Amino acid sequence: MIMHGSDGATALFDMDGFVVGAHVIEDGEWWLVIETTAEMVGCSLCGVRAVGHGRRRVRVRDLPIAGRPVRLVWSKRIWRCPDDDCPAGTWSEMHDEIAPRALLTRRARIEMCRRVGQDGDSVAAVAAEFGVGWHTAMGTVIEHGRPLVDDPDRLGAPSALGLDETSYLRAGPTHPRVMITGFVDLDRHKLLDVVQGRSGQVVRDWLDQRPAPWLDGVEVAVVDPFRGYATGLADRLPDATVVVDHFHAIRLANAAIDDVRRRVQQSTFGHRGRKHDPLYRIRRTLLVAHERLNDHQQDGVVRLLLTGDPHGEVAAAYLAKELLREVYAARRASWARSRLRKFYAHCDRSNVAECRRLAKTIRAWEAEVLAFHTTSRSNGPTEGINLLIKKIKRVGHGFRNLRNYRLRLLLHCGVQWQTPQTARVRVHQPRFAA
Ligand SMILES: [Zn+2]
Repeated sequence: MIMHGSDGATALFDMDGFVVGAHVIEDGEWWLVIETTAEMVGCSLCGVRAVGHGRRRVRVRDLPIAGRPVRLVWSKRIWRCPDDDCPAGTWSEMHDEIAPRALLTRRARIEMCRRVGQDGDSVAAVAAEFGVGWHTAMGTVIEHGRPLVDDPDRLGAPSALGLDETSYLRAGPTHPRVMITGFVDLDRHKLLDVVQGRSGQVVRDWLDQRPAPWLDGVEVAVVDPFRGYATGLADRLPDATVVVDHFHAIRLANAAIDDVRRRVQQSTFGHRGRKHDPLYRIRRTLLVAHERLNDHQQDGVVRLLLTGDPHGEVAAAYLAKELLREVYAARRASWARSRLRKFYAHCDRSNVAECRRLAKTIRAWEAEVLAFHTTSRSNGPTEGINLLIKKIKRVGHGFRNLRNYRLRLLLHCGVQWQTPQTARVRVHQPRFAA
């Protein structure tokens, strides 16, 4: 059924200067016939009052209403200058929201970009809701998103920079694993950039593109214990304090536990861990902070280590992890230093190769580990951003295009979005069509 002249539809549609003349739902889409309210128009050249010269219909998609795609049919007025000597001739109406030959209104394009960027919705889902194809939707995200990402002010003036690696593509039959390096503003918890690769060169190249005052502002850089990053930073930010934070150090200790557990499993049982093997059953519990385990879980760890870890090697790695956690938990740098000595002594005494290797790595990064206490900077924000990155990856079903991936990540984790637009409150209560 076609509805005519609806104030309610005009209120829902809510675009300045337009009224809805008629509306109808067809094939699940809402068609609105709209026209401008302009009644009197002057010729732009001579100022004489123009006369109507018929109408032309243009079609364009707009914001969905209540989840339903909306198509606008704009009955565009054609005006004519009545002065035969005026070169203006005829012209048609224009509106900022509806560009000539546009497929979508301006506000629809901006909202599509915001949904994909800020909300992290998939391009496919947004495309379906707006009734357009995937490529149109992605094109819109690129068109409106790129200026936001390219804005030099976006990088702010961080005093602390976090560097972290994430995997972009898993190794496949035709390509090796691709790693990317993320740069994070640890003050504002924003992702500044992602670049392909994981090396000192990647860090140098990225820092080389930053202006000198920006570089001067960075006082602290938090990294995972990877020499490439540290040398890249030392080259370009010689005055910044490099910190190896809690998160990355414990990740190393957890990796040592896993290594010992697998080796002991193999040598004790002659096969890889299976569901009922004691070490396999506690593989996750071993990585949890000790004080977060309840009594039952703590008892379980002790009991299963007694049966599955005859020489106490897994237990030694577990204790090494807990001692390293104590270092980070210390409230004073001097305490951290003495706890670090305890950690070294335990690892060296343990006769477990993995523990000794762990101690060797931490020794090589001792200054950066202890700097955690003098700067009280952590890569915590980076961890949070890594979760967001995983979410975007999941939504995107594995990206194949690094440019699009970077754009999506930066729109989600690296852009300050304005508070989402809400429908303007109208002075007059709209009367809704029944
Ligand atoms: Zn004229």
